[in-house]
Amino acid sequence: MLDLAIVGGGPAGLTAGLYATRGGLKEVVMFEKGMPGGQIMDSSEIENYPGQGNIMTGMELMQNWPEQCQKFGLKHEMNQVDTIVKEGETFKLTMVDGKEFEAKAVLMATGSVPKKAGFAGEDKFFGRGVSTCATCDGFFYKGKEVAVIGGGDTALEEAVYLAKLCSKVYLVHRRDTYRAAPSTIEHMKNAENIEEVTNVTVEEVFGDASGVTGLKVKSKETGEIRDLNVPGAFVFVGRDVLNAPLKQEDGSFLCDVNEQGEVIVDLKMQTSTKGLYAAGDIRIDAAKQVVCAAGDGATAAVNIIEYVG
Ligand code: FAD
Ligand code: NAP
Repeated sequence: MLDLAIVGGGPAGLTAGLYATRGGLKEVVMFEKGMPGGQIMDSSEIENYPGQGNIMTGMELMQNWPEQCQKFGLKHEMNQVDTIVKEGETFKLTMVDGKEFEAKAVLMATGSVPKKAGFAGEDKFFGRGVSTCATCDGFFYKGKEVAVIGGGDTALEEAVYLAKLCSKVYLVHRRDTYRAAPSTIEHMKNAENIEEVTNVTVEEVFGDASGVTGLKVKSKETGEIRDLNVPGAFVFVGRDVLNAPLKQEDGSFLCDVNEQGEVIVDLKMQTSTKGLYAAGDIRIDAAKQVVCAAGDGATAAVNIIEYVG
């Protein structure tokens, strides 16, 4: 019987693991399906984590977090949690490989994954020119032209990153104003090789057997179609929360969620189900920042320690 099962090893899950073990819980396991660190590992640069001296990559920021947690006794199970059900006062977690665990309390810290934009060719060419990770795939387009789709912080930051590697970046956005922070917009505007292609819809990504060869965009004002002949299209149009393990056999969720599937929590990160907590990007009103996810993880752990007793 675990004191606490943490589902997800991003900033929220890792911080919860640190606080829970250091705060005295004995059997704490963090379930992470991939490498611990979370989605920030895909980021080419982060500059707003407090105390951080210089701009660094997401991977550099996260590299010491798992080891610090392990020092206090956090166990790491590299596995994907398939389902979580409540049986009496405790929880049963079933992994995709069929392994089962029992826990007195559960923290959902599963974060989110990139959304699809929904244009033709997006799935067909995914991994063959369509990408959602500039740090991972940007190098393949060194010296070439690429397109970035989206108008939020991620799209603009990654466009700036790609502009340093690529000969030209088309920043393709469906409106003519951006959601990104003012300083990020300024960085983007200062990059000489970024061309803004605004007020357009992406009609399709096209290509051949070798992969993407271009992008067809349509002006929302004039209806004019333009082909951007690029071998790479990076899609950054927001993220979907990963709440699948909370789905029950009858289609309901183990706890209350909102219309977007985000988990409803109180200020203690407690959900509507006793003993089940949620932290980080998966919860309602998340600021979607590393520091906030870490803060949520700490808050949840402090309250879980009290709950487990
Ligand atoms: P995540 O980081 O998403 O971690 C969740 C973890 O859970 C993942 O590792 C996933 O593999 C795991 N998981 C999911 N489902 C399961 C399952 N069923 N079983 C087991 N494991 C599972 N924030 C900033 O503060 N500053 C920035 O500059 C910044 N830049 C960003 C740039 C990019 C490209 C991206 C994508 C995000 C950026 N963010 C930034 C946002 C920040 O990364 C997130 O807010 C933060 O990582 C959320 O942490 P989390 O722990 O809630 O979730
Ligand atoms: P986001 O803020 O939700 O922005 C998504 C962008 O994609 C929006 O501009 C949106 O257009 C556009 N879009 C959505 N669906 C689309 C579609 N189907 N086709 C074309 N365009 C579409 O997502 P994000 O940039 O990934 O950021 C997610 C969260 O993480 C945010 O809270 C962000 O602040 C945070 N984050 C922070 C940092 C940082 O602090 N430096 C860095 C990265 C991310 P509209 O604008 O028209 O809706």
